[in-house]
Amino acid sequence: MSGPYDILFETVRIGPVTAPNRFYQVPHCNGFGHRMPQGLAAMRGMKAEGGWGVVCTEETEIHHSSDLSPYFEGRIWSDDDIPALALMTEAVHKHGALAGIELSYNGIDASNLYTRVPSLAPRSMGTIGGSGYEPVQTRRMDKEDIRNARKWHREAAIRAKRAGFDIVYCYAAHGMTAAFQFISKRYNDRTDEYGGSLENRVRFFREIIEDTKEAVGDTCAVAVRFAVDELLGEEGITHQGEGYDVVAMLAELPDLWDVNVSGWSNDSVTSRFGKEGHQEKYITFVKQVTTKPVVGVGRYTSPDSMVSAIQRGVMNFIGAARPSIADPFLPAKIKEGRIDDIRECIGCNICVTGDTRYVPIRCTQNPTMGEEWRRDWHPEIISPKKSDKELMVVGAGPAGLEAARALGQRGYGVTLLDAYKEFGGRVLRESALPGLNEWQRVLDWRMTQLRKMKNVAMYPSSPMTAEDILESGVQNIILATGATWRRDGVGRTLWEPIPGHELENVLTPDDLMDGESGIGNWVIYDDDHYYMGGVLAELLAGQGCHVSLVTPAPMVSYWSQFTLEQERIQAKLMKLGVRLFVQTVLNEIRNDSVKAANTISGEEMEVPRDGVVLVSDRTPSDTLYRPLKIALEEGKIQSLRNIGDAEAPNIIAQAVFAGHLAAREFDEGRVEGTPFKVERTKI
Ligand code: ADP
Ligand code: SF4
Repeated sequence: MSGPYDILFETVRIGPVTAPNRFYQVPHCNGFGHRMPQGLAAMRGMKAEGGWGVVCTEETEIHHSSDLSPYFEGRIWSDDDIPALALMTEAVHKHGALAGIELSYNGIDASNLYTRVPSLAPRSMGTIGGSGYEPVQTRRMDKEDIRNARKWHREAAIRAKRAGFDIVYCYAAHGMTAAFQFISKRYNDRTDEYGGSLENRVRFFREIIEDTKEAVGDTCAVAVRFAVDELLGEEGITHQGEGYDVVAMLAELPDLWDVNVSGWSNDSVTSRFGKEGHQEKYITFVKQVTTKPVVGVGRYTSPDSMVSAIQRGVMNFIGAARPSIADPFLPAKIKEGRIDDIRECIGCNICVTGDTRYVPIRCTQNPTMGEEWRRDWHPEIISPKKSDKELMVVGAGPAGLEAARALGQRGYGVTLLDAYKEFGGRVLRESALPGLNEWQRVLDWRMTQLRKMKNVAMYPSSPMTAEDILESGVQNIILATGATWRRDGVGRTLWEPIPGHELENVLTPDDLMDGESGIGNWVIYDDDHYYMGGVLAELLAGQGCHVSLVTPAPMVSYWSQFTLEQERIQAKLMKLGVRLFVQTVLNEIRNDSVKAANTISGEEMEVPRDGVVLVSDRTPSDTLYRPLKIALEEGKIQSLRNIGDAEAPNIIAQAVFAGHLAAREFDEGRVEGTPFKVERTKI
């Protein structure tokens, strides 16, 4: 049968191997790394099961002098690392996909905090790995070091082949590897044959590609990952300048070009700052310069955009990290024509925080991501209902929507109600804020699924009291009633209400989302530290206000550094003229000013105000929970669960997870002890 998306399911030859289709999961970090190989293998295997034709590792350290601690990445230092990696190749091969490994020698990006040997790099300079500010310098590589690095790369390639990989990468992107650092003038001040002219600076990259081809190229495809632009203008590699030249020089040498923009925050830009296909303008030239297949990324979730990118000759493979995380079954759904079932990535980068916070990967859209091995969760399959019990889910924010959807998928009869006239809770409200419109996909996907379920009844405009719930006769209740922003500034920094918080024009994020607007001088006090403070500063600046953002943290929107957004947020606020006061706490709100103080020196200041927005803690909306808990204890209802922000305010990803968990655990009996498998080192 022919269809509009057939082209995506064509096989593509990559050197000595053949990919079963054009869906290519490019290397991506995940927080499992070498520490949790079983969790990692199950996650990668799930992508292959969902139809991704190529599934790759994350960056994989080839030698102990390229130690990426405190981050957990892949590791192939010795033969002892082969069995853990083979778990992944087996999981991927089981479903007919190719397995790729991104070999990585990290140079300036290697912290070596664990191994305690010097990092080796084109020149001696402060390392950029670890925290980014480790008080450590690299050792300048001499000829012997370069010979050794080539030998280690070659040995790692041979081990990778033994572990079962079909595609072996030489990695020069994200500014993270020695190969890239040799190419870059910023990191290479050498005067030998590895420095100076571009020909010389490319030498190391060329050599490791040649070495890898020679070592494993008979059966493995040799791919390169190369950043064609660093978005630094003349300071860095550009796609019209040396980025172009490098591709032209090496055009036919590798079997595949995986091209992107550098650094990671540009490559994985959030939807707040970049849209689908955002890299096309940088990478389009590559296919004109090489006959080898090209992989590109750009958070493609629409099959029409994918087909267009192939037909326009931008790329041969649709590369994806985040779309494959949000929906491991994206290719299968396109193949089956189930386009409206695709769970589209929202571009929030919570997945990235697995790596940056050293924990297993999480995803806002896909609550099963990272849980494949330890909880045995499948993104598409869920155990069927155990009984004919009926449930009521009160609150249709991300937690309630996901609970009702997953319970509905299990086959239970569910009544989902919300006080508001539209479903979506905080997602509905927050996606209307500047830059966050793609977050609406959390609601859209769930509504599409819920509308297909005859066993789920949905009632908006239905404010419920505990009496209403008890009178309904439904015996199993899930409360997902969310939380509201506090009006008094109490949070992690201030334990007592701020004097003056009850004055005129002291608002919360809820008030602004309800449509209140500002005029004149506004002060935002941000003790939440993720996106809300910065987004509201943008909103008010857009309304013409003079905005000051006051935060006790050492930088604005502190936690957004873990989603790779902090610098962009700060740059945007500065461009909008927002005055930024870091390490500053509000002491008092007056009629026309606020008093604030530096958290370190105690030095006081006064900032004029017409309005104030307090972005501090939230209060869980648990007024239904307390009386119903008593009703449960009195045997008036069978089960009760309080989930999401109503239980403990958190990010949207956690609300979705809580809803999913509640649905999975319903009717399943209690588990004593840790409710998932733990990967432990065998002694
Ligand atoms: P979460 O992030 O935990 O899903 P949200 O704040 O997004 O929480 O959503 C909570 C939803 O619950 C809101 O849409 C709100 O209108 C609804 N809600 C709160 N209290 C009640 C209630 N008593 N009856 C019905 N709906 C309620
Ligand atoms: Fe996309 Fe956010 Fe999921 Fe990452 S966490 S895959 S950005 S939806």
